Amino acid sequence: MVSSIANLLDKAVAGERLSPDDGLALLESHDLAALGRAADRVTRRLHPENYRTYNIDRNINYTNVCSAVCDFCAFFRRPRHAEGYVLDRQTILSKVQETVDLGGDQILMQGGMNPDLRIEWYEDLLRDLKGHFPQVNLHAFSPPEIHALAKLEKLPVRTVLERLKAAGLGSLPGGGAEILVDRVRREITRGKVLTDDWLEVMRIWHQMGGRSSATMMFGHVETLAERIEHLDRLRQLQDETGGFTAFICWTFQPDHTDMAHIPPAGSFEYLRTQAVARVYLDNIPNIQSSWVTQGLKIGQIALTFGANDMGSLMIEENVVAQAGTVHQLTLTQIHGAIAELGYIPRQRNVFYELIDEPPPSRGALPPAPAMVY
Ligand code: SF4
Repeated sequence: MVSSIANLLDKAVAGERLSPDDGLALLESHDLAALGRAADRVTRRLHPENYRTYNIDRNINYTNVCSAVCDFCAFFRRPRHAEGYVLDRQTILSKVQETVDLGGDQILMQGGMNPDLRIEWYEDLLRDLKGHFPQVNLHAFSPPEIHALAKLEKLPVRTVLERLKAAGLGSLPGGGAEILVDRVRREITRGKVLTDDWLEVMRIWHQMGGRSSATMMFGHVETLAERIEHLDRLRQLQDETGGFTAFICWTFQPDHTDMAHIPPAGSFEYLRTQAVARVYLDNIPNIQSSWVTQGLKIGQIALTFGANDMGSLMIEENVVAQAGTVHQLTLTQIHGAIAELGYIPRQRNVFYELIDEPPPSRGALPPAPAMVY
């Protein structure tokens, strides 16, 4: 068994595609060190540069009102609930201004699926934000929100995306994917987009020339095979469109949710899954560390388990905070975590273009680990 894991990892390091059975065998492996070494080799092949990246943005949750019910979500409020909110325009503009003042170039805007907000509200918001901050990328509205808006308006998804793009939408976040297997989705969500429709929103956006991220929230009711199925669906769509810029995965945060009885997955599971994702998703160029859920120490180690990016210095994160787990880092901490691994920290935008001044040359990459299993 050990040699077959070694063979699979050699295959991935050499750039050969893994099958779903291969991926499952790796996810069942307990040799975390071997998985990490192989994922790191793949990362270095894809990213031979002497830097690792991060982004500065702000997560604005414009409304917490949601027509869906997700058992893992501690953030949403049902329509007409006393604690439901929609942020007013001035509050949103102020948050963007603060982000720009802190060197941010992007806003991640996501909310619940609020049945009182019509497409004109979104168009007006996007136009207003672009009018005030033309340089800021609006990374907004994950597939569940787009799908729900299309249903509410009785419009094709393409029309909704075209109208939002014309109003200033820059890129789509990959939220609301959880596990892209309908058995899992039906068990933990109600009234939310199913797998094919989630992928279809992304497919159309990519066909329009748009870019998006892809995500996975794991460690709840899914099997390991379903985790691989999720990765496989993303890989298939990426073969078709090439529109995913990055993948990020994190462990389900159970506190204050209706699934609080499920024991949280730990760091071993997080690192193992991310390492397997890196070797399996051979066509998605970037993997982001999830320090928001894992903390600085594991978030940093994740950069040696397949991630090439520290993700975002998020100025605000309500959804994870509601579930009780939120880690906050300063820019100095992100720089320090990257530099300690021997890399130069560089700021990027959502399209993974470097947007900071290049620092003075600091030599070559740290040496790669030997492939010994
Ligand atoms: S995860 Fe999103 S779709 Fe589900 S209840 Fe929360 S806000 Fe609504």
